[in-house]
Parts: sequence; C-alpha cells; structure tokens
Amino acid sequence: MDKNNFQQFKISEVIVDALTSLGYTEPTPVQKQIIPLALDRKDIIVKSQTGSGKTAAYGIPICEGIDWMENKPQALILVPTRELAVQVKEDISNIGRLKRIKVSAVYGRQPIATQVTDLKQKTHAVVGTPGRVKDHIERGTLNISQINYLVIDEADEMLNMGFIEQVSAIIKLLPEERVTMLFSATMPDEVKDLALKYMIDPVDSEINSERISTDNIKHFLYQVEEEDKFTLLTDVTVVENPDSCIIFCRTKERVDMLYDRLRDLKYCCDKIHGGLEQKDRLKAMNRFRRGEFRYLIATNLAARGIDIDDITLVLNYDIPFEKEGYVHRTGRTGRAGGEGRAITFVTSHEERYLREIEEYLGMEITVLTPPSKEEIFHKNSAFTTKMNTRPVAKEEKGALLNQQIMRLRINSGKKKNLRATTLVGIISNIEGVKEQDIGIITIMDTLSYVEILNGKGPLVMKAMKNITIKGKTMKVTVVLK
Ligand code: ADP
Ligand code: MG
Repeated sequence: MDKNNFQQFKISEVIVDALTSLGYTEPTPVQKQIIPLALDRKDIIVKSQTGSGKTAAYGIPICEGIDWMENKPQALILVPTRELAVQVKEDISNIGRLKRIKVSAVYGRQPIATQVTDLKQKTHAVVGTPGRVKDHIERGTLNISQINYLVIDEADEMLNMGFIEQVSAIIKLLPEERVTMLFSATMPDEVKDLALKYMIDPVDSEINSERISTDNIKHFLYQVEEEDKFTLLTDVTVVENPDSCIIFCRTKERVDMLYDRLRDLKYCCDKIHGGLEQKDRLKAMNRFRRGEFRYLIATNLAARGIDIDDITLVLNYDIPFEKEGYVHRTGRTGRAGGEGRAITFVTSHEERYLREIEEYLGMEITVLTPPSKEEIFHKNSAFTTKMNTRPVAKEEKGALLNQQIMRLRINSGKKKNLRATTLVGIISNIEGVKEQDIGIITIMDTLSYVEILNGKGPLVMKAMKNITIKGKTMKVTVVLK
C-alpha cells in the first residue's frame, strides 16, 4: 500500500488503515497542527475554516486514546443539532472502525428508550446535543465517570445563550482529569474568554487566520426587493443550474412557502427546519446526502457543520442577521478543497447586515446584475434537461470501509454470560482470522451481533458452526442490511 502521511503521527496502524480506506492520505493543515497536541493531551481552542477537516482533527486522537477494554464512554462530543450528532457519530465510527470503536448518538425527539438500550452496550464515545446528554446523565443512563475527552464542536454556538446553561451544567459534572477541545470556524473573543473557565492553560490555535472564509468559495449578491425575490430565484437557478444546492431562508414558515412554490414548479427539492418531525428531518438530510434531490430548502438548522459532498451552490434567499451565520451557511459549499459559489439576496433595508458581513470577511461581495431575458432563454434548455434527469447518486463516506463487512447474529448473550472478550478470543482463534478482522461487537440479553471485516465473514460463519461455548453450539446467521 502507498505511504499514508498520517503515519507521521503516533497513531496505530488500524487507524491509519481506516483513514486510507476513507481516502485520507494527507493530513489537512488543522489536522497537522492539532493531532500531535491532542495526542499530548493538551486543552485546545481551535479556529479553522469551514470544511477544513476539524472532525478528524479531534476524531483521530480520540480514537487513538480510547481504551477498547473499557466499557464506559471515554469521550463526549457536544454538537448543536441532531443532524450533526448523527453525522459526527458516523465520522468517528469510520475512523475507529478497525479498532472496533463503538460510538452512540443521543439527541432530542428520538425515543429515549432506544438510546438507553444503546448506551447500555459497551460505548466508547458519545456524540450528542446538550439537552438530551444532560437528560441521560441525570437519569443515570449515561455514565460519565470515565470521560476523559470533551469536545465542544461549533463552540461559539454552544457557548451562546441558547445552550450555555445546559453545556456548563454538563461540564460541571464531568471528571476534572480530562482533555477539553473547542472547535469552530468562528470564535469571537467573548467566547474564548468564557471557554477559559472550563479549560486548563489551553493552546489557542488559529489556522489560516488571515481569512475567515475559505478561498474556495466565490461570493456574490443580488440587490432585490422582497416582492421580486421569487422570480429572481427561478431566474438564478436557470443560469446557475446547480447539481446540488442549499437555499437558506430566515424562518420555517418561509422555508415551507418556498418549498411549496418550488415544488409546484416541479423542482427536485426537499426541506428541513425545526418544525418538522425528527424522522422527516433525518430522512431529508440522508436523501440529500445521497444526492436524491438537488435543492434543499433550509433554516439555519442546516447552517453549521453539515458536510455533504459537492454542494455547488449556497443561496441565501434571506440574508442572515449574524455575520458568523453567513460564514457557516456559505461554508456548506467549497469543502475539503472543492470549489463553490455563494449567492445572497439583499433588500434595500438590509444593507447594514451586508456591511457587517463584508467587514467580517474582509472583502467586498461582488454585485451581480439580474440575468437578462436572453441569458435565461439560452440557458433554459440545459436547465430543463437537468430538471428531467435523475441526479447522480453520491457515494456514502465510509463505502469502502463498509464494503467488506459482514454482520453476524449469534443466539447467545448476556444471560448466558457471553462477553465481548470471549467472542474476540473465539473468532481470532479461527484459522486465517486476526483480531483486526473483528469489528463492532454488540452483546444484548439473549442475542449478540458481531461485525467481521476484510471479507472474512464467510470464513467465520463456517467455523462458528462447529464451535461450542459452554458445551452449546451457537446459531450464527448473517444479518442482511
Ligand atoms: P469542518 O468540521 O472543518 O467544517 P469536516 O471535518 O466536516 O470539516 O471535513 C470536511 C470534509 O473533508 C469531509 O468531507 C471530510 O471527510 C473531508 N476530510 C477531512 N480530512 C481529510 C483528509 N485528511 N483528506 C481528505 N479529506 C478529508
Ligand atoms: Mg465541523
């Protein structure tokens, strides 16, 4: 296998192998700087642009530091939205896949019982939104006695009014002997000052601090009055003709309105905002992630952290009132070295928000003239063709990692005193199978699941048929996805 430049860090081979399968061969600047510090167990405040790879900057050292034998959670990652909790759980699971690291996501408006069952299993790391995390701690269903990493992602948002009480209540309960890491693309000084309360002599790290927004995004605006916005939007979509686009509105009512109007015009679209059922929110996000539709109409709910491949255009149908919000919204495009465009509609009453944003970005946003009739006419057939073609499916992040995984179900569990270590022992003793071929193990009362990696599933299936535990043969079946 070619050299993977993550080998420069003191991290295990299984983690480097997982990174290779994820296509990470060269650490990004923030990863280069932060991974050694975190491995050294330093407290850190990190400001680094959107899409620069902050998740792995903390995910890698956490996966390295986790002791697999310990059943209680050792890392807690706090994030502002449920969608982000699910995404970060996936990201860290992928990095830790070959070390068999089990990550749980806990967030509101999902039945608590499901999460309680999940947390009862061996769980190495927990990603969650503050309210639900606090709830689990108070109910005693999330044991925090072994937490030795705390990450506050989107830190400025998390230490903001809406969340600060819950976040500080959680922090007070955590063991003091821990590493605390804060990450965001925007980090106002007040937030840093506040954060110092919870940290020990932190390293303050700003990566590419001369530019707050990445150079990969080109910024534009249209001056338009409210009553002309919708017509302008349809014209702009014809000339931009994006493959994948997020349109941000100020309120959920406006998201609903715009979604209905665009759907009437047969746009391939869906919507997300806080007023929808949780399962519909996750479904819309997953479908967008897979590239099943082109236009996602959203509130600020989708502004932070969400990482979806190849979003080519972010359109602010309503200008955000907060300058940080602008950076996060537009940061959904131009990620991981890709290119993107950001277009903002500005009405005559909103000039002052624009000035603030421009000052914050340290540049002027290019003003565009509305598309002319000729231009729209010329580009209309390409637009219509795209409207009538199915969008190209986007590949799942951990596809390569997951490809060779077979999930097996065993008809034995806790009630028969089956332990994960016993299973690891039995399976790694099978001829041709190594400990590294075993993935996540879940032991329930009367049933257990084990992932077999690297295409060794059939081998293990066959061998297990002849193995007895405490005199009994086990029934092993393959779990179909
Ligand atoms: P941030 O949190 O800084 O906004 P993310 O952690 O979400 O950014 O990462 C942005 C994208 O970059 C993700 O799609 C991620 O998979 C990808 N990525 C992260 N690190 C690397 C790397 N070293 N090589 C290639 N891609 C990477
Ligand atoms: Mg992030």
